[in-house]
Formats: sequence, C-alpha cells, structure tokens
Amino acid sequence: MKRVSILGATGSVGRSTLDLIGRDPARFEVVALTANCDVDGLAAAAREHGAKLAVVADERCLPALTTALDGSGIEARGGAQAVCEAAAMPCNWTMAAIVGAAGLKPVMAALGQGATLALANKEALVSAGSIVTAEAKRTGATILPVDSEHNAIFQCFAPHQAKAVRRVILTASGGPFRALSRAEMRDITPKQAVAHPNWSMGAKISVDSATMMNKGLELIEAFHLFPVAPEQLEILVHRQSVIHSLVEYADGSMLAQLGSPDMRVPIAHTLAWPDRMATPARPLDLAAIGRLDFESPDPERFPALRLAREALEAGGARPAILNAANEIAVKAFLEGRIGFLEIAAIVADTLSCYDPPAPETLDAVLAIDAEARGLADARVKEGVA
Ligand code: NAD
Ligand code: MG
Repeated sequence: MKRVSILGATGSVGRSTLDLIGRDPARFEVVALTANCDVDGLAAAAREHGAKLAVVADERCLPALTTALDGSGIEARGGAQAVCEAAAMPCNWTMAAIVGAAGLKPVMAALGQGATLALANKEALVSAGSIVTAEAKRTGATILPVDSEHNAIFQCFAPHQAKAVRRVILTASGGPFRALSRAEMRDITPKQAVAHPNWSMGAKISVDSATMMNKGLELIEAFHLFPVAPEQLEILVHRQSVIHSLVEYADGSMLAQLGSPDMRVPIAHTLAWPDRMATPARPLDLAAIGRLDFESPDPERFPALRLAREALEAGGARPAILNAANEIAVKAFLEGRIGFLEIAAIVADTLSCYDPPAPETLDAVLAIDAEARGLADARVKEGVA
C-alpha cells in the first residue's frame, strides 16, 4: 500500500493523478488533497478517494469546505500554512501539481519528509532550483519529474553515463500558433491561446505553451534536474508531440521516449517507479501517425525562448524574475487586460529594470518573486508593450 498526497488535486495534473489512483484503489491510500478554492472538486475527490485531510489554500473557502465534508470524517483545513502542513504529512509519494510559484513552499515542505516527490510544478524549480535540489539532497528525498519532457529525459538519461551525454533535446509542439507571424499573433484571444492542439492542460501552462515560455521554463527546469550545462540543452519543435524528448550520447546514439500525449503516462511512471503500471492511455499507432516532423524553434517570433535562455545562462535571480513577471503577465492576458504579444514584452521589461543579487535562501527567492510581481503588475497597469 502506497500512501500518497496530491497538492493541486483539482487541477489538470491533479485530476489525472486521481484517475490513475482510482483505477487501483487497493494499491494506494490517499493521505492529503489540496486545492486553491475549488471546494466542490476537492470535497468530491476527498470523499471518492477516502482522503484523511482536505485543504483549501484560500482560507475564505474553508467554511464551504467544512460544510461539503460534513459527516465524512475527513478533516477540512484552510490557508497557505495548512497546505504546507498537508505537504509535510508523512506519506510515500507526493504529487506537486500546484500551478506557479505558489507551489514553492509546499514543495519544500514535502521534500522535508525525505520521501518521493513527483514534481509537475515547474515554476518552483525555475524560481528556486538550487534551493529545491539542495533540500532534496539534505533530506534524501527523490524528485521524479512529471513534466512529459523531463520524464522522457529521466527515462533516457543513464546516470552512470552522465559524462557521455552530449546533448539533451527537449521537444516542443510549438503550441497553437507555431506557424503564425508576429502580426498575426497580435489579436490572439485567451480562448484561442488556451486551446492547445495536442494536450489538455490548465489555463496558465496552455498560455505558456502558446508563447513558448513553457519551453523556456522547461530549459531551466531541465538544468536543475539533470547534470548538464546550459549549452547542452536544446529545443526541437516537433508538432505531433509523440517524441517527448531525447538524450544524445558521445557515441552518436540518441535515446528518445515516445508515447501518446496523455499526462497519465508520465504520472504513472512516477507513481509506479521503479516499477511500471498499466494506464488507459491510448497506445501509439506509429503506422497510423505515418510521419514525425521536426523544425528549429524561432526565437524571433517567440521571444520568450530567448528571455528564458538568457535567464538560464545568467542564473542568480534572473529565472525567479522571469517566472514571476510571466505569471503576472499571463494572468493579465487571461483577464483580457493585455494583448498576447505584451506577455513577453512585460517579462523583458521587468527583467531589464530589476537585477538583485543571487538569492541564497528560500526567503530571498520569495522576496525577489514578490518584488518582480509588483514591477510586472505596474507595467500591466501602465499598458507597456
Ligand atoms: P491547473 O490550473 O489545472 O491546476 C492547478 C492546481 O493548483 C489546482 O488544484 C488549483 O486549485 C491549485 N492552485 C492554484 N493556485 C493555488 C495557490 N495559490 N495555492 C495553492 N493551490 C493553488 O494546472 P495544471 O495544468 O494541472 O498544472 C499544474 C502544474 O503542473 C503547473 O506547474 C504546470 O506547469 C505543470 N504541468 C502541467 C501539465 C499539464 O498537462 N497540465 C504538464 C506539465 C507540467
Ligand atoms: Mg512539458
């Protein structure tokens, strides 16, 4: 029996995780489930999976959660601190699927247990990669990457051959606007941006895929997960999302992981690791797919790629600023307050006006994150483009 907790249980990754757990209830015991304020989704999941504890990060939603769980015997709690306490409750496996840097403290709390952390929350690694990996090292926790590219790399990257790795190649679908010109991107609506051609995902990561900031964040994520230098990390546009990433070795061998674009495949890999488990994902029919296409990414049309690459190479506080400004800009875009092309412009502008020293502690990262959010928000209000 594996004891599991899911942080961000009501989101796209959280629900896919619960779907897998629900198919094999004898194998898993659910300890804690958390959400921001989707009370109905959280209460239904907690009852269905017999969770011990359900937590809403937004404290205002606690009375509704308490009512929704009445008579179930499931404890209801509220607030950001309660999310961290849920993350720290002993279990064997924790899914970190909160979106954004809001997931950073819960990730650190979960790592404190020294157990296994399935990490979907890429923003935590982008903002505080070396602090997160140092905490895993300190407590003996194992981080298993859930992001499909990083999970693919994890499956192809032989640790004992790390010195022989020449390149790590992250594939990118290119998002829904892969072939559009900058002029054609100007009037993109939030509805168009969240409609991803291959994957069904939460709103924020869907917009990140459309701007290709997602791939930029993933470059930084890969740098922290695998022993490679920034210049060994490359991006390859592959619109079918069948090959999820590749590792190239010194002898010229390239290893790739292939699969249907269904997050239940990488989630199941981390849930069963080091074993394997069955999933309902549609098996790949390569003959029916017929061909796989590849092209180089275009940082001119997708400036987020360049901004993220620069942040990766500069290190220090740059990735945390990139991430924070992007979170603010994506939120403003989704709320109809700025245009699609302004997302990267606001990130660039925030990076150019704020250059603090490298943070050495979690609190320093959080202070930089907060400052960058304030600066980006001011730019949203000024209407800088
Ligand atoms: P989502 O928006 O569907 O779900 C986010 C979850 O986080 C929800 O449960 C929500 O209630 C919770 N949440 C939101 N704000 C919170 C806060 N301030 N405090 C606590 N909880 C909060 O997002 P998603 O698509 O499931 O993505 C989750 C994470 O996984 C992101 O970091 C994303 O980049 C990453 N990821 C997602 C996919 C995917 O296919 N969806 C693939 C790879 C990586
Ligand atoms: Mg990904």
